[in-house]
Amino acid sequence: MIAPELTQCILCPRKCRADRTKNKGFCGAGKQIRLARAALHFWEEPCISGTNGSGAVFFSGCNLKCCFCQNASISSQNFGAVITQNRLAEIFLELQEQGAHNINLVTAGHYLPQIIPVLEKTKPELRIPVIYNTSSYESVENLKKLDGLIDIYLPDFKFFSSETAKKYANAPDYPEIAEKAIREMLQQTGEPVFKEDLLKTGCIIRHLVMPGHRQESIRLLHYLAENLNRGQFLLSLMAQYTPMQNSVYPELNRRITKMEYQSVLRTAQELNFSGYSQDKSSSNYEYTPDFNLEGVLR
Ligand code: SF4
Repeated sequence: MIAPELTQCILCPRKCRADRTKNKGFCGAGKQIRLARAALHFWEEPCISGTNGSGAVFFSGCNLKCCFCQNASISSQNFGAVITQNRLAEIFLELQEQGAHNINLVTAGHYLPQIIPVLEKTKPELRIPVIYNTSSYESVENLKKLDGLIDIYLPDFKFFSSETAKKYANAPDYPEIAEKAIREMLQQTGEPVFKEDLLKTGCIIRHLVMPGHRQESIRLLHYLAENLNRGQFLLSLMAQYTPMQNSVYPELNRRITKMEYQSVLRTAQELNFSGYSQDKSSSNYEYTPDFNLEGVLR
């Protein structure tokens, strides 16, 4: 069944009003779900990947399309295969059977009208948490529909400056939208709850330190410390920025330096955030899985 909101789509802050029953929107999504990969994934935070891996379901397309995206084959080039809602339900249960510690919906926002009925149907059979892994360029209205269906949020806070968000993602409203979206996520999950070493409910705010932007990262951390309750979320400071191709922005054509990462990490420590950091040597290609339809088709 085609969701009525898809005929003039305003699901996300792009509000591109595409008729997705006939065409694709800015995000690349049409009326049917497209997936690029559904498999165990070992490169999330330790409390998400655990020993067995996270059951990562990578959706095709993206409404943000950062110019430095490390998953460009799915975010911009829209690689993937069309699947039915029944198949998505099967995939969730298959990942659970494979021993996944959770079901990890990666960049799923543009498919929420199709995904929500699947979550409602499968949730009673899932013994593991469901994760919503997002750029945070999401409307609060959409996120409210996930209340009770999502156990863990993994929101990025990518840009603190509107100028940077405009330059790299053509989304000058990103900082404001992301803050509102993250506040809604925190409202839904409450404080992080662990069972043994695995996160059961909660929110991990992720921030990727980018070359030439450490001062912006430091300003973001101060803002989060002053405006959000640090006990309500974990912070994950990522060092894995990897230049994928020759960018039109020369400053993006290198990895971050040790000094850049250490200065941001030191700020996080001084501000007493709880959470995760990455070894600087983690900036490599391992974090980008092969998008080869593994686990997608029957
Ligand atoms: S979800 Fe996609 S089609 Fe809908 S408004 Fe956003 S970018 Fe446009």
